[in-house]
Amino acid sequence: MDEATGTGLPNRPGAQRMRWKYLDNILTRHGPFTDPDWEPGEAAIEGLARAKLLGAGGLGCEILKNLALSGFQDIHVIDMDTIDVSNLNRQFLFRQADVGKYKAEVAAKFVEKRVKGVKITPYCGKIQDKDEEYYKQFAIIVCGLDSIEARRWINATLVGMVDDQDPDSMKPLIDGGTEGFKGQARVIFPTMTSCIECQLDMHAPRAAVPLCTLATIPRQPQHCIEWAHIIAWEEERKDITLDNDDPEHITWLYQKALTRAQEFNIPGVTYSMTQGVVKNIIPAIASTNAIVAASCCNEAFKLATSTNPFLGFPGTDNYMMYTGDESIYTYTFQHMKKSDCPVCGDDNIARPLQVDSDFTLQEFLDSLAERPEAQLKKPSIRSQEKSLYYQFPPDLREQTRPNLSKKLYELVQNGEEVVITDPAFPLTFKYKLVFK
Ligand SMILES: [Zn+2]
Repeated sequence: MDEATGTGLPNRPGAQRMRWKYLDNILTRHGPFTDPDWEPGEAAIEGLARAKLLGAGGLGCEILKNLALSGFQDIHVIDMDTIDVSNLNRQFLFRQADVGKYKAEVAAKFVEKRVKGVKITPYCGKIQDKDEEYYKQFAIIVCGLDSIEARRWINATLVGMVDDQDPDSMKPLIDGGTEGFKGQARVIFPTMTSCIECQLDMHAPRAAVPLCTLATIPRQPQHCIEWAHIIAWEEERKDITLDNDDPEHITWLYQKALTRAQEFNIPGVTYSMTQGVVKNIIPAIASTNAIVAASCCNEAFKLATSTNPFLGFPGTDNYMMYTGDESIYTYTFQHMKKSDCPVCGDDNIARPLQVDSDFTLQEFLDSLAERPEAQLKKPSIRSQEKSLYYQFPPDLREQTRPNLSKKLYELVQNGEEVVITDPAFPLTFKYKLVFK
C-alpha cells in the first residue's frame, strides 16, 4: 500500500496519476492470469519503466507511441529513413516541416514531449550497423521492419548471440509486419522457438506472371502494365535506361499499357497503378499498421510485466496472422522450429532443394532470389569438393565464372550438399540439391 494515497497505487504527481491509472490497476493487483508468486505494485511498475526496449522499422510511429503509453520509459529506436511527404498521411508523428529530417530523431522528440518521463534514444541508420554488444543491452526487441532482408539479419544476429551459460543473452524478438490489409505479429525466443528463417516460406515473394501470359493473353490490368514494362520498353526504347522515378517514363508505360488494355477490353489501368506495379509498391494501410503494432506492443507489455500469458511461450502458439482483405479473419497458431533451419536448426542437416539438373549454374543462382525458401540475391556457392561460384573476391570470381554456363549435372551429383553464402546474412546456408 502506498501511504500517501492509500490506494496501493504509486505516488505520481496528479496529472501523471490520471494518465497511468488503468495501467497501474493492472500492475498493482493480482489478475486471473498472474502467477501466485508474482508481486504486484511498485516493483512491477518500476520493472516496466526500467526495461530497455528497442523498436525499429516501418511500423515505428505506432510502436513508439504504444510502448511509451504502455509505461516503458527507456526506449531506443532505429530507423535509417528520412521523412518523405508521402509518409505524412499515416506516420502521425511527422509534420510538413519535418520533411527531409531523420524519422528516428523527429519521432523520438515528439513522443518525449507528449509522454512525460519517457526517454527515447534514436539511432539514424541501419540495424545492420550495430553489433551484438549493442543488442545485448535490451530486454526485448520489437521490430516492424518492412524488409525481409533486415528481418532475417536481426533474427540471425539474435540467434547467434545466445549463450547457453548466460540466460540474459536470449533476447525475445517481437516481429510485426503488414502488407495492405494483411499482417502478422509473432514472438520468437531465439534458439528456443521457431525463428524467422524457419518461417521464411511465409514471406514468399509475389508470384511472377509467366512471360507468355503477358505477351499473348493478358487478363488483368497489371498484366498490361507488366507487358509495357518488360516487353514494350525493350522493343521501342531499348537505348534508354528506365527510371522508375521519372514521370515521363512512367507516363510512357502508362499510355502503352492503357492502349493494350483497351485492345483486350480490360478496364482499370491507371497512372498510379502503373507506378505501383513498376516500383513494386505494396500499399501501406494505416489501420492495418495500427492493429499489428498494437498486438506487438501488448505482447511486449505482457512479456515485461508477467501480468498475462504472452504469445510465443515455448511450446505454445507463437504466430498471429491477421487477414482483412476478405472481411476479417485472425488465426493464431504454433509455427514449429525446423531442424534444417540454417539459423536455429541442427548444424549437420542440409535443407533439401529441388532443382532442375538441366539448369545452368547461372540460372540456378538467379532462381535462388525468387525461391521462397531461399531468397538470396547475391549468392556464392561451393560444393563439398570445390568452389562453384564466388562473387568475392574479384580474382576468385574470375576463376569461377566459367562454371556459370555449365549445367548443374556437370557440377554436382544428385543429392549433393552445397554451401551458399550471401553478403546480406551473417551465416551460411546448407542445401542438399535434389534433381527433379
Ligand atoms: Zn529457425
